[in-house]
Amino acid sequence: MSMVIGCDLGGTNLRAGLVDTNTGEVSHLLSIPTLAREGHDAVIERMTGLIRDVMSQSANKKFEVEGVGIGVPGVLNPAEGMVLFLPNLYDGWKNVPLCKILGSSLDIPVNIINDVRAITMGEWKFGAGKGASSMICFAVGTGIGGGVVVNNQLVMGFNGTVGELGHTMVDPDGPQCGCGNHGCLEAYASGPAIAAMGIKSVIQGRTTLIGEMVDFDINKITPQIIAEAAQKGDQIAKEIFEHVGKLIGIAATNISLAVGPERIVIGGGVSSCGDLLLDPIRRTLQERIFVMPKERIQVVQAQLGDNAGILGSAVWAEINSAPC
Ligand SMILES: [Zn+2]
Repeated sequence: MSMVIGCDLGGTNLRAGLVDTNTGEVSHLLSIPTLAREGHDAVIERMTGLIRDVMSQSANKKFEVEGVGIGVPGVLNPAEGMVLFLPNLYDGWKNVPLCKILGSSLDIPVNIINDVRAITMGEWKFGAGKGASSMICFAVGTGIGGGVVVNNQLVMGFNGTVGELGHTMVDPDGPQCGCGNHGCLEAYASGPAIAAMGIKSVIQGRTTLIGEMVDFDINKITPQIIAEAAQKGDQIAKEIFEHVGKLIGIAATNISLAVGPERIVIGGGVSSCGDLLLDPIRRTLQERIFVMPKERIQVVQAQLGDNAGILGSAVWAEINSAPC
């Protein structure tokens, strides 16, 4: 039996659970608020307490916890166990030796991996990517992250940087992205970008159900609201998902030509919109790929939800020796 604790450092919540890396079963799942504004020292202390709680809840069973894997939302050096920069967390976490700090206070090997690479690993081992020898994962949420598996291996590249799929360009002269470049996929197809298209259509007074559905409080417009409007037959809402799906499909086409995947997994909060998002991605791949057997590329919705990252971090910790 191989038991590893998987932990997810999110902007809102810290989550951890005990993972059986043979079966993908997650137990003793605990969640506490991150309280990122208290700074990284305080967050690490809370994380230590959370992991200790999972360990003590699972104590006295007939196994030993072999290690801890943590999914971290940002730029890392996984081999050295260093967090280099977390752009979306308060105080930025610049050059924090996370594995060393946690490893010495917990007295157990600790590994880190980018959060979306962890999701990719989780979906590949136990979810929608299971059985595919090569796959691409897009996580479409507040931003767009990704991960790539080639020939049964999660591809890491330099410092684990493979998979920044949201920052591949779909229009060289497009709007500026949060990363500084222009025309990135994320600037068009992330959750906030989709919501912004809905908001714009309501402000412009176009004929759409989207406004009525939120009593014209435009702050309440989300991709899910737009998806509901589309399911009720709203033309504007349908056009928004057609457009977004096409652009993700263009990015998926470019990446497919580099990777040769059998499967493309779409996860993240926006993937709950299902075929409304997936169908235009599928159509675009079929229309735009000519030099590989495109009919064999499946585009599927992620299956594991919030647990994908916990599972993937645990698997990552199991297959790698800890940096410190
Ligand atoms: Zn970008």
